[in-house]
This record gives sequence, structure tokens and C-alpha cells, in this order.
Amino acid sequence: MILKPREVPTELKTLRLLRPRMTLPDEQHYLNLEKGFTGEQQLDTWLENLTTDCFVINDLLLQQNRNFFQIDKMLIFQETIYLLDSKYSKGDFFIDDDKWKTISGIEIQNPQLQIKRSETLLRKLLQQHRMNFPIESTLVFTHSEFYLYNAPPKLPAVFPNQIHRFLEKLNRLDSKMTYKHNKLAEKLLALHFHKNPHTQFPDYDYHELKKGVLCVSCRSFMTDNGVNWVCAKCGYDEDNKTAIMRSIEEYKFLFPNRKITTNNIYDWCGMKSSKKKVNKLLTNRFIRMGHANASYYID
Ligand SMILES: [Zn+2]
Repeated sequence: MILKPREVPTELKTLRLLRPRMTLPDEQHYLNLEKGFTGEQQLDTWLENLTTDCFVINDLLLQQNRNFFQIDKMLIFQETIYLLDSKYSKGDFFIDDDKWKTISGIEIQNPQLQIKRSETLLRKLLQQHRMNFPIESTLVFTHSEFYLYNAPPKLPAVFPNQIHRFLEKLNRLDSKMTYKHNKLAEKLLALHFHKNPHTQFPDYDYHELKKGVLCVSCRSFMTDNGVNWVCAKCGYDEDNKTAIMRSIEEYKFLFPNRKITTNNIYDWCGMKSSKKKVNKLLTNRFIRMGHANASYYID
């Protein structure tokens, strides 16, 4: 039973929305977030056929004594909590005296230390709340083109060609969720942080962003041809209402403090045709507040 489904992380969602409209301060960071998310989705897909009675909590952000730690996927079984950490690295690696290196010898962050840190912090957190469950953590390498030379057999890791047997092993576990597990899951969900206060969002200014409607499929700017919106790059077309409503959602997400007015949305969508279309849509879909030129809309 999935208690917390995976969502696009706020930081990634923000960067996805900003990227076509401005130059991101750190493109590589954005690409890393995309890769990480792809790996996590791969992990979800692999575990879709988990049939054992258990609780699944995705993307849990917890804090223990001011230390934040993130758990990609938590599986609560009757006797054990499994922490799964997705690693979407591609290429050849080897372990040299506890150091993880690329085949060309460049040291990378040791993923085993990261997951051990989460495991330790979670154990302390549970102890604080007087909940004692054995915890096991496993790295799951989610990229099909990942290879680790001289991987020690005892390494708590699952490689792409082992995932099937890993799932079989989980499906063979004797497990039943009871009151105790409900309490544990409830507690963890209550302790979850929606936002990591250490995340640094790029500065962005409404006036400096490129305006227009972005294609839902390829994120290029679309052209308003009067009846509908068309993407010149991939050919996707969308009716006027859907395209504008989607853009309003993006506007609200990026600028929660800016008012929704006909002029603002007309500007945000980079429209050239009639403002009446926007006005009609806002009147139909939102609640109008204020009068005449001072009017704005709320959900
Ligand atoms: Zn497109």
C-alpha cells in the first residue's frame, strides 16, 4: 500500500518551469535533479509488483537533531524497515579502498556512506519516539548502463540485473501490517518536511522571464493561431482554454503573491490576440474580486 506517492520535487518543478524562460544559474544542478528523479521513477516502476503486505513511503524528508536526511523509498514490513536509495549513475566504476571511483580514477561521493547516514539518523529518530524497528538499507542502481567492478558480494546494493530476484525476495517475506505499523507510518508522515530549508532556489523576477505558453510535451514556446496553440517544434496543439489554464497554474506556482488579472495573464501568456478570451476564461473558471480596473480573480 503506497501511503505517499512520489511527486515531482518542488525544486525540480520550479527549475523545469523557469528553464525555458531564463538562463538557470546552474544548469548541471538542474540536470542532476532530472537524472535523480528519473532513477527514482525507475525504482518505483521496478517495485510496482510488490505484493507483500507492507507500507510504501516515497520521498521522505526527515530531520534528526538539525540534520536533514532524505529517503528515496521506504518499505515498512512487519519485522523490518527497508530504506532504498536510488543511484542513477551511468558508466563504469570501481571501489578502491572504500573510495568509489570512476574508471578514469575520479573519486565520487561514496553512496554507501550517504545511505548509512540516513539509516543512523532514522534509527535515532525512531528511538526518540520510542519506536524500535530493525532498519536495513540498500542502494539500488537504477541505470541499466551502470557497472561496478570488484563489487564486494556483501555490498548492500541491488544492480539492475538483480532487481527481479530482489523483488521476489521481498514478495516472499512473511509480513502483515498491524496497529503498530500504522502508528509508525503515521508518525513518519507527520514528521515529513515538505520543503528542505537548505534548498536554494534561483532568484527570478517576473519582468525578466520570457513570456509565453510553453508546450506541455517539449517545453518550447507555442504560437497562438487564434483558435488554438501550436508548438512549431514538436507539432503538439492544444485548445485555447487548456493552454491558458495550464499557464495560469505555472504562473500561480512561480508567483503565489502576484494577482491573477486579465492583464497579467495576457502578458504572462505573451498573447497578441484578443484580451477578451482571457477575460472570459477567468470569469468562467475563477471568482472575481473587486471592480472594474481593480478586479482580480481567485480560485
Ligand atoms: Zn512541443
